Amino acid sequence: MPVFDSEQLLFQPVMSAADAVPLIFAFPNTYSVGITSLGYQVVWALLASRPDLVVSRLFTDRADDLPAAPEILGFSLSWELDYVHLLDVLEQLEIPVRAAGRSQEHPLVFGGGPVLSANPEPFADFFDLVLLGDGEDLLHQFIEAYQTVRSQPRQDQLRHLAQVPGIYVPSLYNVTYAAPDGPLEKILPLESAIPAQVQKQTFRGNTLSTSTVVTPEAAWENIYMVEVVRSCPELCRFCLASYLTLPFRTPSVEQTLIPAIQKGLQVTHRIGLLGASVTQHPEFDALLDFFTRPECDAVRLSIASVRTNTVTEKLAHILATHDTRSITIAIESGSDRLRQIINKKLDPDSIFEAAAHAKAGGLSSLKLYGMAGLPGETEADLEATVALLKAIKQKVPGLRLTLGCSTFVPKAHTPFQWFGVQPQAEKRLQFLQKHLRSQGIDFRPESYSWSVIQALISRGDRRLSFLLERTRQYGDSLGSYRRVFKELKGKLPPLDFYVHQDWPTDWVLPWSHLQGPLPQSTLLKHREEAVALF
Ligand code: SF4
Repeated sequence: MPVFDSEQLLFQPVMSAADAVPLIFAFPNTYSVGITSLGYQVVWALLASRPDLVVSRLFTDRADDLPAAPEILGFSLSWELDYVHLLDVLEQLEIPVRAAGRSQEHPLVFGGGPVLSANPEPFADFFDLVLLGDGEDLLHQFIEAYQTVRSQPRQDQLRHLAQVPGIYVPSLYNVTYAAPDGPLEKILPLESAIPAQVQKQTFRGNTLSTSTVVTPEAAWENIYMVEVVRSCPELCRFCLASYLTLPFRTPSVEQTLIPAIQKGLQVTHRIGLLGASVTQHPEFDALLDFFTRPECDAVRLSIASVRTNTVTEKLAHILATHDTRSITIAIESGSDRLRQIINKKLDPDSIFEAAAHAKAGGLSSLKLYGMAGLPGETEADLEATVALLKAIKQKVPGLRLTLGCSTFVPKAHTPFQWFGVQPQAEKRLQFLQKHLRSQGIDFRPESYSWSVIQALISRGDRRLSFLLERTRQYGDSLGSYRRVFKELKGKLPPLDFYVHQDWPTDWVLPWSHLQGPLPQSTLLKHREEAVALF
């Protein structure tokens, strides 16, 4: 495999059996981006460890020698706009982009990853099947189920695979609409043997993911990644990383995480601790102690965003001595009222303390992360954010402050899935920019247009697939999407419907047939608790 010769593997690929299934596992972006995805690494290793498969990898800029007749083609989709490359890859491999156009001679095309687990519907017509939820057990179940129907006609294969919990075969569900440009009416399986609801799968093992390959060509050069926690117990009401991946899982530090890190240290000194809420691991302190051992002296440590009230001086000091200069905390808003609405359990004193601890521990900068346009937000809430940032600057002088700020985007399976993007969010980002930059606070807004596209895909239904196919011809700007919405007027709802409209809670949602960790009744209850505070 000369194209991947800079890699150090941390697992042993097995020899494939003579009758192994030829499978291509693709990442619809460059090698550098794809190989930095822990999910891609782990799934590749899992597939390459099965003797009944012969696995080739494909990225947009390089690939293994590909089989002439692959039976399965898989994609890991981590970023919404990578669908453009996904469609390009299908075309290059001469596979019809729509599942309906494929026949027995084409491979079964499956997808997985965070974008598809949240809401696969805008992409549903491009896949024969989608794996929903954690892949650890599900991938094995998929391959084993495929082996039993390998020689059968394609439709029988799909019917059989649709029986496996977590495998969603979109073509076996019929979606009807109140009008071509109206809301959904019903989503029903085509046959009684097909489950009406597909349950996302939850992995319950004692370990989580760790890097299976280290390479200097990764976007984070030579990084060895360790997933310290999965999900987050905090349930901030907009948060997909919490709601979609519950329950909160924490492997043992002594028995699992430290041995995993030691394995990585044999090949690199760059360690990344990943997870939605890393510092909430109940034994996080013991993990920090590990990094004070002499064997970790040369470690360059990166850590994902941490909860504000877990920023201790010890944490800051350990990061500072391991080549990290700043720490990121998500405050979402400076307004106490708005933080209550979103269920962010955080008081201003903990924010000041986090800043003081960061400085005392030797870090030079504190990055805060906020959002504009949250449901229930008023202008007074933005003024509160400005006031809070100014107060931190005053109380902890000398610490460089950055506020990264995105626009609220509704996500499926969260209590805020029914709320639209507030159009005034764009002006509110400008307000923050004006008032923070003048105070010497680095303000980094995320593009509002990008948030609109994200919301479109996040709440999209199957009708969007026609729009996505056309838009890629025009480029990925918001203008291109608007242009195609005009071209398809009357055939699907307008952009405003998907992005900005608040949806009634009794509507059938595009993902109503896909069951996340919490029932809809719980999401509604959490939504009502928020609305009561508006
Ligand atoms: S603390 Fe962070 S990861 Fe946890 S629910 Fe809130 S926003 Fe999500």
